[in-house]
Amino acid sequence: MSQNYGYELKKNDFYALNLNLFSMKLNKYFILSCILFISCTTKQTQITKNEYGLLVINNLAQYKLTVQNDSSKKLVLLKSYVPHLITDWKYATTDNFTKQILYINPDAYMRIEAAEALQKVAVDLEKQGLGLKVFDAYRPYTITKKMWEIVPDDRYAADPSKGSGHNRGAAVDLTLYDLTTGKELAMPTPFDNFTEKAHANYANLDAAILKNRTTLITVMQQNGFKVLDTEWWHFYLPNYSKYELMDIDFRILKKLP
Ligand SMILES: [Zn+2]
Repeated sequence: MSQNYGYELKKNDFYALNLNLFSMKLNKYFILSCILFISCTTKQTQITKNEYGLLVINNLAQYKLTVQNDSSKKLVLLKSYVPHLITDWKYATTDNFTKQILYINPDAYMRIEAAEALQKVAVDLEKQGLGLKVFDAYRPYTITKKMWEIVPDDRYAADPSKGSGHNRGAAVDLTLYDLTTGKELAMPTPFDNFTEKAHANYANLDAAILKNRTTLITVMQQNGFKVLDTEWWHFYLPNYSKYELMDIDFRILKKLP
């Protein structure tokens, strides 16, 4: 009998020991999983410098963290803010200075501050029977690098070692159109023309063209934008450097609420 009891005791001990070992293993796996999860999350939210020593946000976790710390960094769809906004995505076609398709299925995103300012611009323009036509707004950093590989000249493309206001969601390329006819207003040059005629203060122009350019630049400046000296179509927020460079594709941005 006593032997039996002893056997039973040993058997129970054996089960208990196994159970303990099992739960220890489970604990070990649980702790390891936690460490893995924390390190992955940290890695995702840690912004590392790129080959030019620039900090470029390249995933939604990093972007969301910057917005959590500063809500003014939110990227929003311009069409939700700007009445009568239309787009003409030159870089989604071969009809651009690189003669190559640079991105597909874009959408016009900018920081909320820029979107609210453009909303005021559009309201002012509506009174004049005019609307805004956007050629490019937020542009992923990879596209800026691609442009530079094709045309490595800072008179035509943004130097990736500096990045562009477009990569920060704080610059926009646009023109005016007539709300009744849908036609673009005549401007000094087409978009992405890199001659002196495209300079924002170029004066040797027909009166009607000069008037159109003045209308555009004035309304944009009155609502907080600055025009680039060499491009009548490029406008940016003066505080653009507060916004991080970003390299998140449009397909991923579209997942944002
Ligand atoms: Zn531009």
